[in-house]
Amino acid sequence: GLWRFIDWLPVKNPSSSDSGPVTYRSEGLGRELGLSNLYITFSGYFPEKGGNIKTCSFKELEAVPTLQRAHERARGKILVIASAGNTSRGFSQISSSIDTPVITVVPSDYIDERMWTTIEPKKVTLVAVDGDYTDAIKVGTEIGHLDGMIPEGGVKNVARRDGMGVVMLDCVARMKRLPDHYFQAIGSGAGAIGSFEMAERTVRDGRFGDTLPRMHLAQNKPFTPISNAWNSGRDDIIAEEDMPDAEEAIEKIYASVLSTRNPPYAVKGGVYDILKRSNGSMYMVDNTEAKRAEKLFSDLEGIDLDPAACVAIGALIQATDSGGIGKDDYIMLNVTGGGYKRIEEDYNLHRIKPDFVVGPTTELEYIEGELRECLKQKTK
Ligand SMILES: *Cc1c(COP(=O)(O)O)cnc(C)c1O
Repeated sequence: GLWRFIDWLPVKNPSSSDSGPVTYRSEGLGRELGLSNLYITFSGYFPEKGGNIKTCSFKELEAVPTLQRAHERARGKILVIASAGNTSRGFSQISSSIDTPVITVVPSDYIDERMWTTIEPKKVTLVAVDGDYTDAIKVGTEIGHLDGMIPEGGVKNVARRDGMGVVMLDCVARMKRLPDHYFQAIGSGAGAIGSFEMAERTVRDGRFGDTLPRMHLAQNKPFTPISNAWNSGRDDIIAEEDMPDAEEAIEKIYASVLSTRNPPYAVKGGVYDILKRSNGSMYMVDNTEAKRAEKLFSDLEGIDLDPAACVAIGALIQATDSGGIGKDDYIMLNVTGGGYKRIEEDYNLHRIKPDFVVGPTTELEYIEGELRECLKQKTK
């Protein structure tokens, strides 16, 4: 799995996880789009190709080094993750595979569909929040600062960025060079930042070329705050201009994981910087284009996709149509999630039930009481 890149990761030792992405040269989609060097880096479950991420998204790649680094540096403390679902599912899977406790905080609405593992989630505590993603983050942050716990840290967590950056290493190892172009759908942009940082290190390594890939990043219309800010030439997001009627827009998008409202765009080393430094582009892909891309990909490559990955393919199609990329350029398509249908053929999924439910304003004292009780049961 991803431990084959351990020298590039901020940990001392590997854990027992064998989770990892796969990169292969596309035949079907490449031919259809007339691209001779299209490489697909697939972060999901696709055993026929070697894709071994059982929770079916690249969020699991964050979990592997993050749990190991917490184990090495904050021994005994329990990691707390708040997410809209894919990240919490990834951490739940890895926590269960290496037998380490974890606390996840997820909006109630997403739990049925998104919270499951392929192995029994014995040491996972799941706190349901009656509210949205922002409320879950707020509750998660409070819990993370309790005694004996440690907040996972988001984009500022180097293990998280480097874990997602493994896709760049996997692609470079397969291409035997850096790609000319990198395509991905972004919500926060954390994954793209992680990939870009790995590309910078690869340039310093020297064996795989000296040119950074151009970052081609996409959002799902009508919720496109980063695309709007970048296309206006601004290095910061102005909420009223870039995401008016955010709630309504978020309701409409097909790829709901791309609904981050406060992405690390303006911060040094953030999304603005990587676009600027790589001469990159932002794309806006609507639901119809995303669904067309989904059908094309499943017909030509033989696997089902996460809606976010369909948005990335929509952007690749736009770039090809506009002539923005050369036919023989080396292209890395970061397929950030897929194989949800495929995994159900091979595994009985364990649905994770909430241990308790809170609201956005529930007293921390109550939450802590419930949590300590759960942890006592689960760490027995
Ligand atoms: C979270 C997610 C993304 C977006 O990643 P960011 O790092 O938030 O930009 C894309 N695809 C999938 C499948 C995801 O779960």
